[in-house]
Amino acid sequence: MRPPEAGVDGEEGFYRAILDHVSDGVYYVDPQRRILYWNAAAERITGYSADEVRGSSCADGILMHVDDHGTSLCKGGCPVSATLADGEPREVQVYLHHKEGHRVPVLVRTNPVRDSNGDIVGVIETFNDSSALLDALKRLDELSLATETDHLTEVGNRRSMMDRLDASLRQDRRSKSRMGLLFIDIDHFKQVNDTHGHETGDRVLKMVAQTLKHNLRTTDAIARWGGEEFLAILEGVTEKTLAATADKLRMLVANSYLTEKDSELRVTISIGATLVRPLDTPDSLVSRADTLLYRSKAEGRDRVTFEP
Ligand code: GH3
Ligand code: MG
Ligand code: MG
Repeated sequence: MRPPEAGVDGEEGFYRAILDHVSDGVYYVDPQRRILYWNAAAERITGYSADEVRGSSCADGILMHVDDHGTSLCKGGCPVSATLADGEPREVQVYLHHKEGHRVPVLVRTNPVRDSNGDIVGVIETFNDSSALLDALKRLDELSLATETDHLTEVGNRRSMMDRLDASLRQDRRSKSRMGLLFIDIDHFKQVNDTHGHETGDRVLKMVAQTLKHNLRTTDAIARWGGEEFLAILEGVTEKTLAATADKLRMLVANSYLTEKDSELRVTISIGATLVRPLDTPDSLVSRADTLLYRSKAEGRDRVTFEP
């Protein structure tokens, strides 16, 4: 499409009309930071009309951007000044001052405008109201946390563990340190339910999960794999440290207890522990740990069976 050569407002009016239809606020400042152009979206987002701001300097206390810490950008850190000085485009998340007084979160982008000699003759700033975006990002965080967590035990769920296994196996191929996997199952858990009821069983599940979680490193992962089974990924381990950590977890669970009608309710766990091998897939790794767990059960429970 070509601009009209002689419309009602001429070529300039044509471009103005286009800019008034974009949803981002757009304004243009000269090297003295005087605002020369202010589009319709800028009016809508800030509450200031073009007539109110045109000709004034953006440092005159109109927008008064502040950053996440409440620091005023006009007193240093102004992206417009910085782009005027070095010609580099910038993108920052700031909070602008609305004419009605409130603060509006906006993503600001500055770009230099050059004349035919390459000299900077101004800066175009575009900004958009990012309230909805920030809200959506926050909601996304909450949702992804909810979809990755087992509601009862508050550790990861099976899905999160499958994702983590995939990611860690890919990572493990590139790194020198190895990854270990623990398959953990509560011993005689059916008896806990039968003797104390399902609700107490739930409290025991949570207790075991939380002991495991609190005694792993933050870089490790723990998830409920099924009923009373958990998987733990331990990053950067050796044969020695993996076996030692597994046994420590076993011991800590054996020493965790709920107080039920003046008596202490304890359970033990059995563990299968193994290290990642070069050709492992998530399935082969989990199934090897499961077989080792089965040996712990067969040999009397409350123990760790380790095979590198
Ligand atoms: P083993 O030592 O061989 O593992 O014996 P076990 O009794 O722990 O194993 P089994 O597989 O026979 O029983 C597991 C029990 O876990 C049966 C099931 O009712 C119980 N369970 C599974 N999920 C939950 C849950 O969310 N809450 C409660 N309270 N119990 C659960
Ligand atoms: Mg069990
Ligand atoms: Mg089981």
